[in-house]
Amino acid sequence: MKIMNVPFIDLKPQFRAIEAELMPAMRAVLEQTNFILGAPVADFERAFARYSECAHAVGVASGLDAIKLALRALDIGPGDEVITAANTFIATALGISSIGATPVLVDIDSATFNMDPALIEAAISPRTKAIMPVHLYGQPADMDPIRAIAQKHGLKVIEDASQAHGARYKGRRAGSMSDIAAFSLYPGKNLGAYGDGGIVTTNNQSWAERIAMLRNYGSLVKYQHLEQGENSRLDTLQAVVCNIKLHHLDEGNRKRRAIAARYTERLQGIDELHTPQVRPDVEHVYHLYVVRTPRRDALAAYLKNAGITTIIHYPVPIHLQPAYADRGWRKGQFPLTEAAANEILSLPMFPELTDDQIDYVTDRIRSFFEA
Ligand SMILES: *Cc1c(COP(=O)(O)O)cnc(C)c1O
Repeated sequence: MKIMNVPFIDLKPQFRAIEAELMPAMRAVLEQTNFILGAPVADFERAFARYSECAHAVGVASGLDAIKLALRALDIGPGDEVITAANTFIATALGISSIGATPVLVDIDSATFNMDPALIEAAISPRTKAIMPVHLYGQPADMDPIRAIAQKHGLKVIEDASQAHGARYKGRRAGSMSDIAAFSLYPGKNLGAYGDGGIVTTNNQSWAERIAMLRNYGSLVKYQHLEQGENSRLDTLQAVVCNIKLHHLDEGNRKRRAIAARYTERLQGIDELHTPQVRPDVEHVYHLYVVRTPRRDALAAYLKNAGITTIIHYPVPIHLQPAYADRGWRKGQFPLTEAAANEILSLPMFPELTDDQIDYVTDRIRSFFEA
C-alpha cells in the first residue's frame, strides 16, 4: 500500500488561485499606507453585510473580540448570564467570561452536535440576558425554537457563526438570524484572512455604530472617547484579503459539500462509524467533516500511520477545561458532550481536497474497520 500524505487543511492552493487578483490589491494598501481602517475595511463590511443578508457589518480584530463586542454592545457584563453550548471552541465561552459575564452551559443534541433547544429553559435564571448558539462544524443550530424561547423570556440571541460563513437555516443566512452575530476570520475558517480577524453582523444600526466605536478606543472623532473601548480593528490588509476571498466563498462551500457527499457515500455501511447527520432544512457548509466511532483513538492512530492528518473538535469540553476549574462544573454534568468528545474525529476538509485524496482516506477507514 503506497502512502499518500493528506493534510488536514492546505491553504496554499487557494492562495495560488487568487494570487493574481490579490497581490496588486495588497500592494495598493502598502503604497497608500492606509493600514488602519482604510477604505477597504468599509468596502469589506458592506460586502459581507450584503452577503450575510444583514443591514450592517463591523470588522474587528478576531472572532473572540467579535463575541466580546457583540455582548458589550448589548450592555451585557458582570452579573449577567449567557447560555451557550458545552461542545464548542473555548473562544465562545471566553467571549462571555472575559467581559465579566457568566457562561451557562447546556448539553448538545447528539445528532448534530449543536445546542439542544429542549435544555435551554431549565438553564434560564433571573440573571440570564442572552442565548448564544454556535453553528458548530458549519451546520446551523436549530434557531426557531431558540428564538422562540428568547422571545418568551425577553432574552437576546447572539449567533457564534465562526464556523458557518454562508450556511443557511430555512433559507436564512447564518449571521442574519439573531440580534448580533459574531464571525471569526481566522485563516482556516471558510472565509479566512491571512492573519487574525473577525466581523460582527446585525440589523440594528445603533448596535453596529456602538461596536464600530468600541473597536476603536471608544472613539468616533479622533481623541474624543465616549466609552472605554478597545483596540480591536480589522486591519486594512486583512479586509482586502477577505473581500477578494468573499467572491470565492460560495464556490468553496459548494466544493466542501461535494467533498462531504463523497465521504458520506463512501463511508456507508460501516457499523461502528457514523457520518454527519444533516438537518433537512439547512445548508451545511462543512467547516469540518466530523465522523463518530467508539474506536476513535485507534482509528486516528491508524490514519496517522497512513499519512492522513485528523483532528478532534474538541477533545476537552468547556466545562472540563482547567481554565474554568473555578466554576464548579463537574465531570458527568453534560454527558452527551462528554460522550461525543470521546468519539468524534474530524477528517481532512478544505475545498481543494482531490477525489484521489478523499478516496484514499475512505479506503483507509474501510480497511481499518474491515481488518
Ligand atoms: C474560531 C472560533 C472562534 C474564535 O475565533 P478567533 O478568530 O480565533 O478568535 C469562536 N468560536 C468558534 C466556534 C470558533 O470556531
